[in-house]
Amino acid sequence: MRFYENVSAYLSTVDDGPMGSSTNRVGQYAENRERFLAKNGIAPGQLVLGGLVSKDRIGLVTKVPPTQRVPDTDALVTKIPGIALGMVHSDCFPVYLRWPSGIALVHAGWRGISLGIVSKTLKRLKALGVDPSLLAIQIGVGIQQCHFVMQDDENGVSHFLNDRDPSLDYRRHIKRVGELFYVDLRAVALVQIHATYKAFGLTVLPGQMRASKECSFCGEGSFYSQRRQPTPGHNNLSVMVC
Ligand SMILES: [Zn+2]
Repeated sequence: MRFYENVSAYLSTVDDGPMGSSTNRVGQYAENRERFLAKNGIAPGQLVLGGLVSKDRIGLVTKVPPTQRVPDTDALVTKIPGIALGMVHSDCFPVYLRWPSGIALVHAGWRGISLGIVSKTLKRLKALGVDPSLLAIQIGVGIQQCHFVMQDDENGVSHFLNDRDPSLDYRRHIKRVGELFYVDLRAVALVQIHATYKAFGLTVLPGQMRASKECSFCGEGSFYSQRRQPTPGHNNLSVMVC
């Protein structure tokens, strides 16, 4: 397990077992999830999971839904004490956000990052009255540049090259090796976060944001990675409690 102190977030490791996927039926992998939650003092009924469709929809959670899932969301926000937000992920990055009266948890893979999901979540929080200067931000374990490779096709690197906003220039975070492009998704997310704060008329304060350099693919023995070993349900679970 990893614990991120600045945001009080928990991340499961392979020792905790596979945590299921966003598409498996409710209840599958429940035993592993419940053991992991219990270890961290969280009751199973507190958990609300994101639906995870690798898009950019943000869900505001005001109560635990009967299915304990919010379909079609890749970011969840809550201000209700006792609600635990969860996301399963393997190579996608969990982004944890905490402020004095609430939490948000983002599932940021390459599609979500290319759609600006982290920036969109920050803007939503500001619209909800959250002061961005009070946010603690942590980017967790995900696939790092050493292993995230794209080609120049329709699902490829063009998603990170065609942005016309000059504050979002990702080119120095993309390494070309022959026909392959190694994209530093973590760095791209950081560029987006800094640009969003700039648009707010703010800067990210020293110590306000941390980003893990651990790679899910490199972390054999610690983390599941679908790109290293595609196995349905073999995912990590991130949890935060409001
Ligand atoms: Zn790696």
